[in-house]
Amino acid sequence: MSNSLLPLESPSPAHICPFDQACSYLEAAAKELKLDPGLLAILSNPRKVITVSIPVKRDNGEIQVLAGHRVQHSDILGPYKGGTRYHPAVTLREVSALAMLMTWKCALLGIPYGGAKGGIAIDPKSYSVNELERITRRYTSELIKDIGPSVDIPAPDMGTSAREMAWMMDTYSVNVGHAVPGIVTGKPLSIGGSRGREMATGRGVMIIVREALHSRGKSLVGVRVAIQGFGNVGAAAALLLYQAGAKVIAVSTGSGGIYAEAGIDIPALKAYALQNRKSIANFPQAVAISNAELLTLPCDVLIPAALENQITEKNVDLVQAEIVAEAANGPVTLVANQSLEARGVTVLPDILANAGGVVVSYLEWVQGLSYVFWDEERVNREMEQLMVQAYRQVMEQSKVRGISSRLAAYTLGVGRVGQALTDRGLYP
Ligand code: GLU
Repeated sequence: MSNSLLPLESPSPAHICPFDQACSYLEAAAKELKLDPGLLAILSNPRKVITVSIPVKRDNGEIQVLAGHRVQHSDILGPYKGGTRYHPAVTLREVSALAMLMTWKCALLGIPYGGAKGGIAIDPKSYSVNELERITRRYTSELIKDIGPSVDIPAPDMGTSAREMAWMMDTYSVNVGHAVPGIVTGKPLSIGGSRGREMATGRGVMIIVREALHSRGKSLVGVRVAIQGFGNVGAAAALLLYQAGAKVIAVSTGSGGIYAEAGIDIPALKAYALQNRKSIANFPQAVAISNAELLTLPCDVLIPAALENQITEKNVDLVQAEIVAEAANGPVTLVANQSLEARGVTVLPDILANAGGVVVSYLEWVQGLSYVFWDEERVNREMEQLMVQAYRQVMEQSKVRGISSRLAAYTLGVGRVGQALTDRGLYP
């Protein structure tokens, strides 16, 4: 029997439901931990599910009404924490799954936060900057009673950036009557953002891949890497891996990718994309490939850094990498994950591999609370320490229990939240 109480839209049978998948991972961890069924039932449900309606005036005067979601999964370990996603595929089920992942991610990294996620089903490219500002401000103001620097702290996610965080911070601050920088993380430096935050998720991916290679007696130098996605996370990971001596042989965006066996000059590609409205098509000395082809290229490390459900039972047998690092949330399905692990492929799970972003969000929050701001070197050092510690704990857990690294990561995250729930007890 399912533990889920969520009144969510039912997915079509052919669709892999992200929330069901998140619950399957939770159930597997609960089984491994022999977690009390009552605790499992609590953790299977978000604590609060909020959907607000966002009326927005388009630039042509037309009024459009959008649905904005914020799902607060758990605040057992601290304030709810998680990004705000603007993407056409956003659904309440997806946001609920991502909120649950945030709970385990923060617990795994040992940072004192719960998990949440927000989202609006829009393609930001179809809206003007002014329209996006109106949408973001109205969304924030509709959520005003449910967020706060010690309640729920949004951050950027797919389709949002420091710009949206500044609008959110301003809207919240104006409504409460004073500046509240701690309401969001991932904000611009000018209003209390942290150095290193923009590159943080990509840096975390690089660190975890480097550690995994070390465990296999290898280094980043000369390693062939294919990266699906050249957005905030994919592009930062590509640059840092390139700088560390890896050979980035392929990258892609939503409209397709490029491949060069000799390796791509990532700084040159970044400059090219900047000049060509984010397009990487026709980059010199590389051939065009599709997103599907990128996933099955002969390479050592494959980094899906775009959407969920990219490696499924349909294409998993064609994946040739020996390490798959989930820079996106949920890019490898449950079944595909089992098949990769059975073949001896190391899958570095999302809640570990892409945790660099929320770790630096936490460091931003700490700096804001203490009114002392650090240089980038210190931010990167503190982040590196937390990431490496979590990597070692996951590998140790995997070895001791004889389980996959994904199950080990979930077992650590779920176990810590379960322990806190037990210690706090149930109210009333
Ligand atoms: N959106 C990022 C994530 O999924 C960052 C969240 C945060 O910094 O709160 O981890």
